Amino acid sequence: MENKTITIAEILAKPRNRQQVNIKVKIQDIRENTTRWLQHECREIQMSTYSVADSTASILLTTWNNMDLTINSWYTLSPVTVKDYNNTITVSTSPSTAAETINRPPRHGVAAPVTDNSEEVTGLIIGAMTTSTITCPKRHPLPNCPPGAPFHMCPTCNQHFITAKLRHQWNVTLTLEINDTTIREFKMDHTVVLNTAPKHIYLDTDPITVTAHFLSIGLVTVRVKDDAVSALHPCTASASVQQDTDIADETLLTFLDETLSTSDV
Ligand SMILES: [Zn+2]
Repeated sequence: MENKTITIAEILAKPRNRQQVNIKVKIQDIRENTTRWLQHECREIQMSTYSVADSTASILLTTWNNMDLTINSWYTLSPVTVKDYNNTITVSTSPSTAAETINRPPRHGVAAPVTDNSEEVTGLIIGAMTTSTITCPKRHPLPNCPPGAPFHMCPTCNQHFITAKLRHQWNVTLTLEINDTTIREFKMDHTVVLNTAPKHIYLDTDPITVTAHFLSIGLVTVRVKDDAVSALHPCTASASVQQDTDIADETLLTFLDETLSTSDV
């Protein structure tokens, strides 16, 4: 059966848990970029949360497995699943969800993003401190790992594991220079570090390599809540111009109009 394309306001007005619907939305901003550990399958799955909106309302969208949606772009998402969890209504992708980019609907406003108490901070990474905990393949911290041993005991699993299959749990504290007078510190947990660092640097490396990676990034935009980072993006000139496209487009056009008319004089 074909799923219906409905507006966000319609979803919020009559939420039906687990209903499958199609939506046409603008991706407004990313709230979370992390991983969830699937204990049964012993693997992690990538998870992102975005604020998305059409002209009627905005809602949080959860995506899985690096769906790779572009901020400020419009998409038809078919289908997404409505979730009603403790009266918080969200939508989520499933493995069968298709994301198709579409043009911005003409003459349509966009609802304000979903409110939350996180903030977006842009600054220059001027300091980083990395700590690591070694864990068994099931993520239990191993307090005691003598270097050079071919295998290690996990007291929780009551098993020995070969050294090659142990993992690092990384924690990084970043120091950001926000402006000439403001410096702030933010914590990044393991999942955020994993999503930010290139794959090869965390698998089998030392804390100073992870620190060096973050110190090499330079200008970043981070989303933080209670001084903990939930998402981090290197800040490029084009990305900062793209913020608030809807307003920026109008402003740019007005600016060009004015520039052209004054240069004629
Ligand atoms: Zn274990």
